[in-house]
Amino acid sequence: MIKSGRAGDEVQLIAVTKTVDIHRINEAIAAGITSIGENRTNELEEKYNVLGNKVDFHMIGHLQTNKVKNIIGKAKLIHSLDRISLAKELDKRSKRNNIITDVLIQVNVAEEESKFGLRVNDVLYFIEDILEFTNIRIRGLMTIAPYTDDKALLRNVFRSLYKLREDIKGRKYEGVSMDYLSMGMSNDFELAIEEGSNMVRIGSSIFGKRNY
Ligand SMILES: *Cc1c(COP(=O)(O)O)cnc(C)c1O
Repeated sequence: MIKSGRAGDEVQLIAVTKTVDIHRINEAIAAGITSIGENRTNELEEKYNVLGNKVDFHMIGHLQTNKVKNIIGKAKLIHSLDRISLAKELDKRSKRNNIITDVLIQVNVAEEESKFGLRVNDVLYFIEDILEFTNIRIRGLMTIAPYTDDKALLRNVFRSLYKLREDIKGRKYEGVSMDYLSMGMSNDFELAIEEGSNMVRIGSSIFGKRNY
């Protein structure tokens, strides 16, 4: 963060707590963590039932359409919107609950087979297609970079997402904001911040290796 020349409070830390038990999450909350990220709906639900509003829950993993009903109103931000059918379901369930759900669009910048997310070139069309869904609010973009030590490649990925965000901002779609750029994990968060991330999702650097 010093290297990037940016103030620390500009970057929001999401502590990724998948597989981490409640006791250790409570310790993290006591140490100042205010937001946690989960990638499975059942784990998010279970933890929400115990912790409630003590901490903000972020859904960062792939979200199945039939699981939306279980986490609606519980996740403060959903980082993984990647298809129309999911947008439709999120909108429907949000309407039923009289809420507006904040979402990020997941972009598979590096076009990795193993990862979910839209291709960079499809994002504008996607946004235009989901503008009709008034109970979801697009708040920004998310990506998972390839797991690599290749710094040039990582920088390119983060830069592409930053540029896409600027492009979307310039189009001034009604009801769409680009407040959040969720990029950067344990392996690459320093580079991501240097390239403009303002939301990092960090698990193993905080909690150690995960035991599945
Ligand atoms: C697990 C996970 C993270 C955190 O990964 P670490 O390498 O442990 O920091 C971040 N984002 C997503 C989407 C994840 O599934």
